[in-house]
Amino acid sequence: MQILFEKNFYKTFLLSRAHNLQFLEKFFLAKISSQNLHIWKKCCNFVRFLHTMKSESHIIVPDGLHQVLLHACCAPCSSAIVEWLCAGDIVPTIYYFNPNIFPREEYEIRKQESKRHADSLGIRWIDGDYNHDHWLQAVCGLEQEPERGKRCEVCFYHRLRATARKAQELGIPWFATTLASSRWKNLEQVNTAGLRAAEDANSQWLTANGEKVQFWAQNWRKDGLQDRRNALLKEYNFYNQQYCGCEFSINHI
Ligand code: SF4
Repeated sequence: MQILFEKNFYKTFLLSRAHNLQFLEKFFLAKISSQNLHIWKKCCNFVRFLHTMKSESHIIVPDGLHQVLLHACCAPCSSAIVEWLCAGDIVPTIYYFNPNIFPREEYEIRKQESKRHADSLGIRWIDGDYNHDHWLQAVCGLEQEPERGKRCEVCFYHRLRATARKAQELGIPWFATTLASSRWKNLEQVNTAGLRAAEDANSQWLTANGEKVQFWAQNWRKDGLQDRRNALLKEYNFYNQQYCGCEFSINHI
């Protein structure tokens, strides 16, 4: 019962509109007891984050974007972005599609962490297929490439192409990726792959109502999201992977 209460309490707080913060702070302060101080701490951190976000936002939301299919590479990288979207009244659906991850055990750990994160906020979470052999075929001949090289370009495209297709199936006109939040990734490579994925998907299919899907190219390192990611990593006690994902990146630990 206590767990259910905590979960819903934080969820309600997190999904509340950002425009009435003072009222919210007072409301939650009145409700809090010494037993759920840790939730209060989470709420305070979130309020602080929202204040920063409201005052100095550098993230541009395209006109008409109210929902987005968010490709999530892992729970830590998606946590602050999901918060940012919810606070801005954008409904995210998380799509976990990362067949690049090796070995399977590592994939399952990262996947379960992503699901745990989405469940804690009541956010729709969709499990993509894990076909590592198919991914290996896609990057065949590029095994010796360094990180941020051509193999990563293909890897990004492989994942975002599937995300574009999933967005079409779901009738969600916009998709984005948490890959663009990592300082270890080349942002230009990520955005190029996303735009190409949208173009290629649209040349083959359209959504059920005849619309095209669009990639939301965005630098998710702005607006203090990097610091917020690190704070949430600790709050959720997320599993923090030590390498990018594929077998060729393990040697770079
Ligand atoms: S290093 Fe990372 S981005 Fe590059 S191919 Fe491997 S899993 Fe993909």
